[in-house]
Amino acid sequence: MSTRLDHQTIPFLDLKAQYQPLMPEIRAAMEAVFADTGFVLGPRVEAFELAFARYCQSSHCVTVHSGTAALHLALLALDIGPGDEVITVSNTFIATAEAISFVGATPRFVDVDPVTRTMDVSQVEAAITQRTRAILPVHLYGQPAPMAPILALAKAHNLYVIEDACQAHGAMYHGKRVGSLGDIGCFSFYPGKNLGAAGEGGAIVTSNPEWAEKIRLIRDHGAPQKYQHRIIGHNFRLDALQAAILSIKLPHLDVWNAARRSHAANYTRLLQTVPGIKTPVEPEETQSVYHLYVVQVPHRARVIEAFQQHGIQYGIHYPVPVHLQEAYSFMGLLKGSLPVTEALADGIISLPMYPELTHHQQERVVEVLAGALAQTNGGV
Ligand SMILES: *Cc1c(COP(=O)(O)O)cnc(C)c1O
Repeated sequence: MSTRLDHQTIPFLDLKAQYQPLMPEIRAAMEAVFADTGFVLGPRVEAFELAFARYCQSSHCVTVHSGTAALHLALLALDIGPGDEVITVSNTFIATAEAISFVGATPRFVDVDPVTRTMDVSQVEAAITQRTRAILPVHLYGQPAPMAPILALAKAHNLYVIEDACQAHGAMYHGKRVGSLGDIGCFSFYPGKNLGAAGEGGAIVTSNPEWAEKIRLIRDHGAPQKYQHRIIGHNFRLDALQAAILSIKLPHLDVWNAARRSHAANYTRLLQTVPGIKTPVEPEETQSVYHLYVVQVPHRARVIEAFQQHGIQYGIHYPVPVHLQEAYSFMGLLKGSLPVTEALADGIISLPMYPELTHHQQERVVEVLAGALAQTNGGV
């Protein structure tokens, strides 16, 4: 019996709420860009790069036009290409693997830890071959991967570590920002990310000036000066409008992340009494920024039906693991090859999560979720 008193849709994400208070500042910044029509790269992009490097506790930041491009360029900077293998996870957005494939290398998928849902380090050593060049962990949902053991393994086997931090701007591991822990960290500023542009954007951070320089060159046709092409590059540049907007938003990121963490703690507390549900777990050395709040539920179809009925938006991140995607069928990895990843894909659901979410909305989400699961306990 559902009450119809409060039947307002609860969005999965509310970007309008985030932009509203910033609009006067954003409009002024956009006016300034149009006033001088410096639309691509330039001082606004450089200013954001300095600010973002500092935020990530790293020495260099090079912006690009997407997180996918950031991953792609990180691999190119490290000369990873045909014949090489990169160890990563299948429990991720496909861009992680695509970047590896796009430079001509081969992703070697390992399974994830069922509790943290990030790379299961105990499987990495067995995946290392003569061809392995790098380990590419993903800080999925904002939860840092176990970087200390990953870095130790990488050091022992002389491998690079590239962090996919596209969902984890500001997350911490042992008090250090993710992205600055490995050799190169990759970020996305896709609109819905914790720090999002009003369009596409991405960045790499690194403490190595040579890699930063190489990425800077490839980003802009291999040309340190106009029409002086030192190497063969491409166009991966960021717009000045995006950089201006990102610079306005960056000072708010820690407050937004703190709000996400508070909402996550609230969800976890409210869900404590719901039988059969698994909520996110943060190991004590990590501080997640909850890009997504993902739970595992029995009878997911029932939960989805109830959410749809009650106007609660949700997501599934991700319904089909990378190794089972048609695009990766050529690798011949069958169902059953990564059991934890596959079980997650079948049971996860992402609840509404954004800084402006209210406690009242969270209570509604949990009420509907608990109701749906209580129904199925009767054996429906
Ligand atoms: C968003 C995302 C990417 C890709 O970023 P884009 O900016 O969309 O290209 C890569 N990896 C992960 C884990 C992501 O969530």
